[in-house]
Amino acid sequence: MRKKIIAGNWKMNATKDEAVTIVNGLIANYSDFGLSENKIVVVASPFPYIHYCASMFAKFPNLVAAAQNCSEFEKGAYTGEVSAEIIASLYVEYVIIGHSERRQYFKETDEQLLLKINQAQNHNLIPIFCVGETLETRDNNKHFEFVKEQLENAIFKVNENDIKNCVIAYEPIWAIGTGVTASPAQAQEMHAFIREQVSAKFNGETAKEMSILYGGSVNAANAAELFTCADIDGALVGGASLKVDDFSTIIKAMK
Ligand code: PEP
Repeated sequence: MRKKIIAGNWKMNATKDEAVTIVNGLIANYSDFGLSENKIVVVASPFPYIHYCASMFAKFPNLVAAAQNCSEFEKGAYTGEVSAEIIASLYVEYVIIGHSERRQYFKETDEQLLLKINQAQNHNLIPIFCVGETLETRDNNKHFEFVKEQLENAIFKVNENDIKNCVIAYEPIWAIGTGVTASPAQAQEMHAFIREQVSAKFNGETAKEMSILYGGSVNAANAAELFTCADIDGALVGGASLKVDDFSTIIKAMK
């Protein structure tokens, strides 16, 4: 089902006390969010807090916990890794896969990302699969080609049934953590392109039903305008998701 999704990605931020403050703040504001089956909030905390987040959110429908990553391996002797099975056992529902920081700093390849998507889906986690180009790629007018390739090399390799349980996030790298946001027109253009690609690869119905999120310096001031775009179904929010008031404003901006 095509849902409106506001997802917060805390990245490697927040001490335990700060995590508690954010969670309590979101819960305090929950009744203003207007959440439903069709509009949900996803919070991707660092691993040590995901069980805490999931437990705290359990009484608040449509406010759910997510992981920022999962292992490509099922289980076993992989020190430091966290499997999709472990994440799912903590009542977590979503997992971000292919964030540009994972691709860039941890050299995650398309092959690994596909394995992670498969692991997530084998354990009923919904992948939020990230794509997005560098500024250089956009300046060379190769951004559509680049994003198409990222889709084709990983998430488009799942089957027709599994693609229905995926979310795609368009996150231009030049907009992540930079304070520079894609204009609504730039974001809408790419989101429409991604939806067209889903339709061409799978079918029109699946494309129509897919949630496609925008990420890249979304904040309390720019969210409402981005959310007016026909193909933008929500946001993946980094920095602003650490500030309860800003994140709450972003959530409320999604009508
Ligand atoms: C992100 O972490 O996915 C992100 C979009 O970060 P920011 O909102 O800080 O640009």
